[in-house]
Amino acid sequence: MKLENLTFRGGTHIEEFKELSSGSLPSPMPAPGKVILTMSQHIGAPAKPLVKKGDEVKMGQKIAEAGGFVSAPVHSSVSGTVLGIVNYRSATGQLVQAIEIENDGQDSLGYEEVDRSKDDLSIEEMLDYIKEAGIVGMGGAGFPTHVKLQPPKDTPVDTIIINGAECEPYLTCDDVTMRTKPEKIVAGLALMMKIAGAKKGFIAIEDNKPDAIAAVEKALEGKGENMALAVLKTKYPQGDEKRIITAVTGREVPMGGLPAAVGCIVDNVGTTCAIVDAVYYGKPLYERVVTVTGHALNEPKNLLVRFGTTIGEVLDYAGGLATEAGKIIFGGPMMGVAQASVDSVTDKRNNGILVLTKEEAEPQRIDPCIRCNRCVEVCPVFLEPLIIASASKMENWDIAQANDVTACIECGSCSYICPSHRPLTELIRFGKQEVMAMNRKKK
Ligand code: SF4
Ligand code: SF4
Repeated sequence: MKLENLTFRGGTHIEEFKELSSGSLPSPMPAPGKVILTMSQHIGAPAKPLVKKGDEVKMGQKIAEAGGFVSAPVHSSVSGTVLGIVNYRSATGQLVQAIEIENDGQDSLGYEEVDRSKDDLSIEEMLDYIKEAGIVGMGGAGFPTHVKLQPPKDTPVDTIIINGAECEPYLTCDDVTMRTKPEKIVAGLALMMKIAGAKKGFIAIEDNKPDAIAAVEKALEGKGENMALAVLKTKYPQGDEKRIITAVTGREVPMGGLPAAVGCIVDNVGTTCAIVDAVYYGKPLYERVVTVTGHALNEPKNLLVRFGTTIGEVLDYAGGLATEAGKIIFGGPMMGVAQASVDSVTDKRNNGILVLTKEEAEPQRIDPCIRCNRCVEVCPVFLEPLIIASASKMENWDIAQANDVTACIECGSCSYICPSHRPLTELIRFGKQEVMAMNRKKK
């Protein structure tokens, strides 16, 4: 079955620049001489180190255990010697614990390679393999996957959606994964449907990826009516999980609610492949496909990168800069995080490294609001960005709260569309943090 022309209300069209890297199929980047593995590569409690300075470790060995139920273990991405446990600035800006490991260049395996693909695995076994492999949402959110696959009992799940929208400009890591591993993605969907007890599964892809659509459609042949391809109209932010649920199923996740509230679980393409690697083949998560791109680079491309590699090392390996960098972003230009240094390290959430030129990064003049209403028209959450941004600027948290500031998904569509270049998303993000902190204090 194939659903077509699916979409959501609001959103906007953004220049894509995907052609910079979409022709590059993922190739492995050699591991660097030293990796720095942070303990907070996910949402939730940081992982707790299991090793100490001087310990010998192997590639894929668990070196840190989950710090709680909403947490994930960390595995070494190389074999070698632990140099120490340090504090390190993560790509998201926090100072976190990290394990430094000197690479011995041997890639000695620290896990057992198996083939369980024909085994009759129980749901508990599959969840345990996913949890122990340290799998988290690889679309950027980093939510631990074993938790997502166990929704509350009062919200049974009937639908799994594999999110292949990849609506952020520049990024192509999911596109190339779908083109090269469509069978693995279909196998991952079947696994997740079994774990969650879902009757229906969709692989949802934006219509600007015809090769991925063709590959997945072929892989779905003969798999039955309960798994289908869902072709989405290309529009930002179609990859947001609530927007993709609405587009594919017509269901609206209530404000502040989780996808499970409407019987859905959404997982990213990379996460889906990692689930298959862990459940069937025993492989922990210690590397991923990263789109290394931007007009400031000589050779934008997709690389399979070991976690703990610095941005500087990735950029050098990818062919270096063609011109002076104006801004370096972890992720895409809309929802990614600007980096202060090329010493930030890749982790499980890092789908892209984008380097803008000086001209592209030049700040634009901010003019007064002309009440054109365009920010309201594009907001996928149906907020009034101009009112919330103005309330945030005046630090009037009652007005911000009354206008649902906390429902903002920080997609950046309002800032992108504003003809006056007003920093709407930045102001709303600030207001959201303040209102959430205020509400926490009241509890
Ligand atoms: S207000 Fe928030 S959700 Fe709405 S367009 Fe702006 S950033 Fe996106
Ligand atoms: S898009 Fe910009 S100029 Fe137009 S109403 Fe919104 S804030 Fe004002």
